Amino acid sequence: MRVIRNQKVKARRHHICGGCMDRIFKNTIHTITVCEDGGRVFTCRTCRFCDAVLRDSNIEEYGEGELREESYEIRKGMPECQTS
Ligand SMILES: [Zn+2]
Repeated sequence: MRVIRNQKVKARRHHICGGCMDRIFKNTIHTITVCEDGGRVFTCRTCRFCDAVLRDSNIEEYGEGELREESYEIRKGMPECQTS
């Protein structure tokens, strides 16, 4: 798998985070990753919590929603960011 693009962007509309399956709200800074694997191109968006999970771990590949637990652990440490 090859990463074609990996950059921070501001959401122009709502998206779903590929790591925790939670919402990425409009105007939120998040990461967009475009990967190419055997000729197929994937686009994945991750919220800043999942970004933190990925930054602090050795996880390189994950399935949809697989970062949810770790992502929520990080959220707990940021009370102002908790989702209701
Ligand atoms: Zn996430």
